[in-house]
Amino acid sequence: MLRLYDTRARQVEPVVPQGARILRMYTCGPTVYRHAHVGNLRSYLLADLIRRVAERKGLRVVTCRNVTDVGHLVDDSDTDPAGEDKVLAQARRESRSALEIARFYEDAFQADTLTLNMRPPEHSPRASETIDLMIELIARLIEKGHAYAVPDGSVFFDAASFPSYGEISGNRLDQLQPAYRIEAVDERKRFHADWALWKPADHELTWETPWGRGFPGWHIECSAMSLRFLGDRFDLHTGGIDLRFPHHEDERAQSNAATGHEVVGHWVHGEHLLFEGRKMAKSTGNVVLLSDVAAAGIDPLAVRLALMEHRYRQQMNLTWDTLHAADRTLRRWRRRVAEWAESPSRPIEAGYKTRIQEALDDDLDTPLALRLLRDLERDEQIPPGAKFETFLHFDHILALDLPADIGRIPVLPAGAGELLEQRERARSAADWAASDRIRDELADLGVKVADTPDGQTWAL
Ligand code: AMP
Ligand code: ZN
Repeated sequence: MLRLYDTRARQVEPVVPQGARILRMYTCGPTVYRHAHVGNLRSYLLADLIRRVAERKGLRVVTCRNVTDVGHLVDDSDTDPAGEDKVLAQARRESRSALEIARFYEDAFQADTLTLNMRPPEHSPRASETIDLMIELIARLIEKGHAYAVPDGSVFFDAASFPSYGEISGNRLDQLQPAYRIEAVDERKRFHADWALWKPADHELTWETPWGRGFPGWHIECSAMSLRFLGDRFDLHTGGIDLRFPHHEDERAQSNAATGHEVVGHWVHGEHLLFEGRKMAKSTGNVVLLSDVAAAGIDPLAVRLALMEHRYRQQMNLTWDTLHAADRTLRRWRRRVAEWAESPSRPIEAGYKTRIQEALDDDLDTPLALRLLRDLERDEQIPPGAKFETFLHFDHILALDLPADIGRIPVLPAGAGELLEQRERARSAADWAASDRIRDELADLGVKVADTPDGQTWAL
């Protein structure tokens, strides 16, 4: 059984799907106003790994990853409708319409996730196309006494009406500091920690509602889309660690208040990525995109491998050196898999298989799983055909395209590898007669040997 660290329960817990053999998972999707950087992609990799491990267990996984194309303000602690929407702000900068910007970066995001072999989600609703769901949900919250409209057309969630607020992040209502950022207290709110579900405005990307024209708050979007596409009880909710508060606290309050019960089984958060020792964030200018990695001659899947060298729950520092190292490992593994493919197939190595599977089940211990694969690669007791099957078995989860080189790179015929080793030994022992004899034997197998200052090389 897969076990994951549940941020709300503060412990590793078994993930038992509520539906018969169907695991439902929601992932907070991108705000599509710029390219996703490698740090963002780390958060989405978490969801893909969960999905692939669960699928290996025979579960059907239904995922929803939304697209935020409206409503995410530059500073989302701000309930001020004049606050800048990230997509609108970028549209102004690029002199394009908001929807053009949103669709362009959504496509780029899809392409990046596919490049990293992330399975596409079953549902990827856009916020701008599901406004009716949000209006419905807000109306339900008002009706149940959890939200209130004010004369300027804003609707606020009444935080005090949800006593268990703060269970995910530990930020309880009575501990929150009022107006930490805005000097003046917002007179429209009953309580300083109330947040906007609807914000009045009349510009691009606004809609008519019973409360007036405007646009939704970012948090209500995820509640509306998750309840609609996954139902009112689903198993997992993932996101980056920074989304714990306020985004996920607010989402939990909205969804639970509307349904009257706990909606999400487990909250799972991925830690942040640093690059060359500094947080990867657009605001600090420390950003690496998948296109930068490819431009450096590194296979983009080396990013996937490098990220898996750390558990999702650890903060990790990526560097160009670690990316190059991951690229070398990836190329070596693909070459080995192609070589092993030439040997007779043998059953998957049961000992390694069990230990690697256990590592993955244990809160996605990918670093341990990769160490075990390295051990297996070097293990002389295991026949190549079994190494081949075991690597392929786990490539369904690692998704590194390990069979990519099969049939593409020249592979030595059976027995030639041993002859090359014998010849190398003969040459270091200055046994030129043996060296020449072995060269002829290799030629009979179709392998042409040449001696260079760096040692012998071969071609078919
Ligand atoms: P955004 O598009 O800004 O809403 O972010 C998309 C996802 O990336 C969210 O789940 C964030 O928590 C996550 N994220 C942002 N920065 C980083 C980072 N440096 N490392 C890992 N995840 C991040
Ligand atoms: Zn969300």
